[in-house]
This record gives sequence, C-alpha cells and structure tokens, in this order.
Amino acid sequence: MPYQFRIAAARRCVLTTPLNSQRGRNYATRSSSSPASLPASRRSPQVETMSRRAAERLLRRLGPLAVEPPARVQKRTFSTTATHIQRNPAYSVLNSDDVSYFKSILGDSGVVQDEDRVAVANVDWMGKYRGASQLLLLPKSTTEVSKILSYCNSRRLAVVPQGGNTGLVGGSVPVYDEVIVSLVGMDKIISFDNVNGILTCEAGCVLENLSTFVENEGFIMPLDLGAKGSCHIGGNISTNAGGLRFIRYGSLHGNVLGLEVVLANGTVLDMLSTLRKDNTGYDLKHLFIARRNLGEILSAFEFMDHHCIDLAMKHLEGVQNPLPASPYKFYVLIETTGSDESYDKAKLEAFLLRSMEDGLVADGVIAQDISQASNFWRIREGISEASVKVGAVYKYDLSIPVEKLYDIVEEMRIRVEVLGYGHLGDGNLHLNILSSKYDESVLAQIEPFVYEWTSAQRGSISAEHGLGLMKAEKIHYSKSPEAVSLSMVS
Ligand SMILES: Cc1cc2nc3c(=O)[nH]c(=O)nc-3n(C[C@H](O)[C@H](O)[C@H](O)COP(=O)(O)OP(=O)(O)OC[C@H]3O[C@@H](n4cnc5c(N)ncnc54)[C@H](O)[C@@H]3O)c2cc1C
Repeated sequence: MPYQFRIAAARRCVLTTPLNSQRGRNYATRSSSSPASLPASRRSPQVETMSRRAAERLLRRLGPLAVEPPARVQKRTFSTTATHIQRNPAYSVLNSDDVSYFKSILGDSGVVQDEDRVAVANVDWMGKYRGASQLLLLPKSTTEVSKILSYCNSRRLAVVPQGGNTGLVGGSVPVYDEVIVSLVGMDKIISFDNVNGILTCEAGCVLENLSTFVENEGFIMPLDLGAKGSCHIGGNISTNAGGLRFIRYGSLHGNVLGLEVVLANGTVLDMLSTLRKDNTGYDLKHLFIARRNLGEILSAFEFMDHHCIDLAMKHLEGVQNPLPASPYKFYVLIETTGSDESYDKAKLEAFLLRSMEDGLVADGVIAQDISQASNFWRIREGISEASVKVGAVYKYDLSIPVEKLYDIVEEMRIRVEVLGYGHLGDGNLHLNILSSKYDESVLAQIEPFVYEWTSAQRGSISAEHGLGLMKAEKIHYSKSPEAVSLSMVS
C-alpha cells in the first residue's frame, strides 16, 4: 500500500527508477483456481508483483495464521462470471473487540460503521460489484496503516485497500466482508522540488488536485485520465494506470521515483531513497535548469569538473579543449536529439544565450559537425581511460540528489585526489579517487565514509554499475533491511 511517493512532474524531466507496483491482483484472488490461501489482507503492490511461489514463501515466513469459523455473510452479486468464488473459511470474522482496537488507533472518526457510508464503499464505480463489508477504516498516516495491517494480519481479517474507487474491474471493493481501508484521509502534498520536478505526496491525493498543484508550478503530471477528479494517485500506481498521456510520458513505472509501502503484515518498506528535496546546495543545481528548457530534445546532460578536463588533456592523445584554457570550475556537455535540426539548434542557442545572460554559464561552444561533437564526447568518455594512467583508481558510482552532487567530491578532496563527473541529468556522480597504487591506508580514507555519506543523503551506492563483488556486502547502505529481505524472498 503506497502512501508516499515521488513522481516526476513531467515538464521535460522524467527520471527513471524502478517501480515495483504492477497492475493489481495478478495472481487473481478472485478466481477459484487461484491460491486460495492468499488472504485479501496481504494485497500490497509488492505482493501483487510476486510470483505465486514467492508469495507463498512470504506467507510461510510470516508464520501461522489463526483460523476462526466463518460467519454467514452476504454473498457478493456479480453481473459477470466470477460468481463461483467462495469465501475462504480461513479468514476471521470481525467482532466488537476488533472495532474497539481500531478505534483505539484511529479514533472514532476513523472507524466508520454507519450503514449508508459503508454501503457506498461496498459498491464499485459502475455499480457492478458489491461487497458486504461492515467496516470502513480511514487511516491518516503510514503508522496507522501499519497498525491496521499488522493487527488484521495477526487476527486473520481480510482487507481491501480502496483509493478513489474508480477502478473498472472490481478490485477496489470487498468480495465478501473484508475490512475496507480507504486512503481518502491521506491526501497531503508533502513537498515539491521544482528544480528536479519531483513531487512527494500521500497515496490518497486526488489526481486532479495534483495536476492543478504542479501546473501552478509550471509543470504537468505525466498521467491524466477521465477519472482524475476522483481517482487517487495511490490507486493509479497500484493499477499502473495508463491514461491519456501515455504516449508522451510513458508508464508510471518510469515516472514513479520511490514509494513508501506498508506490507500486509504491517512492515513499512521505505523505498523513497532516491532524490530528495533540499533547496540548499551547490550552484550546480542551477545548471540543472537546462533540463526544463531543453527537455523535449535533450538526450544527454553530462558534467565534469576541471580536474577531469585537465587529466583528459594531459593523458588522451589528439584531444583538444574546445574552450579557451581558463580556470572554469565545471564543464557541462549537452546533447540534443530532436526531429527538426533548425528548431533544435535555435532552441539550444536560445538556451545558451539565456543561461549566459543569467550568469549560469560563462562560456560555451556548439559543435558544428559530427567531428567536433565526437571530440567533445571523447573528452567526457575518455575520463576513465585518462584516470587509469595515473596509477590506481577507486571508482564509486553514486546516485545523489542533484543539489548535493558535488558536495561529496569536495569532502573527499580534503583527504585524497579526486575527480567528479557524471550524468547530471540522472543525479549520477562518478567519484574517482586517484592514487599512485592500491593501498589499504588509502582505502581506509575513502570507505566507509563514501557509503555512509551517500546513505545519509538517501542516495544509492550503485547508480548504474551494480553491486558486484565490490559492493555486495554494502547493500544495507542503500536499502532498508525490509527491502533487502523482500528481495531475497522474491
Ligand atoms: C471515467 C473513467 C476513466 C478511466 N480511464 C482510465 C484510463 O484512461 N486508463 C486507466 O488505466 N484506467 C482508467 N480508469 C480506471 C481507474 O480510474 C484507474 O484504474 C485508477 O487508476 C484507479 O484509481 P483509484 O484511486 O480510483 O483506485 P481504486 O479504484 O480505489 O482501486 C483500484 C485498485 O487499486 C488498489 N488500491 C487503491 N489504492 C491503493 C493504495 N493506496 N495502496 C494499495 N492498493 C491500492 C485497490 O485495492 C484496487 O485493487 C478509468 C476509470 C473511469 C471511471
């Protein structure tokens, strides 16, 4: 159950991070041939993405479940095929102690038993599917969701999460008497990072409200659909909704940067460990504005500090610095790939002009042909090659909030000789530490500091290179114990 996530408000800045959410109910708890042992209370996006075997393994790990005799409940009426679904007798039946417990964590207003209100939540948007739940819960925080699910799991009470209840396949309402957990009360926008175009909000935010919010900031949501006035972003993510902007911005898999999730047993899984809002920081963040001005044609946005340029000039054969040698601290290499050359060129020139007028860029050259472009790329791509000519290189591949991207380079420079370069567009820093030879004393100056620092920024210790032998034991710096153990299960 996602409660908080980041989504790239899509005006030219779609970032990519895995999204674990899949279109809901892949293992079809509503079919008689599905694994009957999977209770509704275990429906979370994570569980839904698992294979049946992995889900069963997880259930075994969660331990034995109490079994109480089933009560007679109203059978759900379907206008389509699945009328043969039987209530799983392993589920418990709600009693007054359960209601008292929920009131103790949610207060009276968070526990709805009023027949009319519960009846509305029992029926889907089309009026096609109707459950017989007696209880609607309205949590207001992750902690409350966690407590609800932990309790339901231990009591063996089935649960159905509900967003805006606009789903068209009967997934948002109870089949029988499941407790309905509505996220309607979790509708806060937590932050908006208008440098990176990252919105962090709760799962119960209505899509249209988010759209209005980001539009006021000069962005648009990468998702739009007819149900936007009612559907929640949590429901959108849970169903991996496609919608009207799919062709332009792609699926939510590509647009959701992180999730905080409550598993069916109440465990909170923090996967919000990508870029984080922070408006203080290095000037590099201003350069990042390029992504907004060039986004539709931008295909690469690389940066190098002057140490990289110096090293490349010194060690790479036949490479020339296209800019007059001067003590610029940073260099940025921008590549655009549009469909209309003259339009792209005009856009790039306008961007450069504006950036120079704003004092963000001191100097710049535009490659006039492929050969010049190749020379530019040779500098950037040759940094690794140039660095190994020095002797030993300790390489770190970190994902860090863009505003802080260079801070770690400066921190390390106090101790060792260091180069900083990477993919600014993705917040991916290549931190290369140069030494005359591989030596334990040098390593001790780098590790675990680099990992600890990255972890403190909620960054990733492996942006793109993978863990390998070097970082296999370091995964805990980037992933919570729950996320690590879930990866092991799946
Ligand atoms: C007029 C109309 C137009 C639509 N257009 C489109 C379209 O273009 N493209 C498209 O893909 N869909 C479309 N839909 C379907 C529907 O709007 C989407 O599936 C939407 O994403 C559901 O969001 P919701 O908040 O209403 O979720 P619900 O309907 O409340 O729930 C849907 C599923 O998600 C689960 N869920 C909800 N919230 C959470 C949560 N926080 N954590 C875990 N699980 C959760 C529920 O248990 C359920 O299985 C449309 C529907 C309508 C009525």
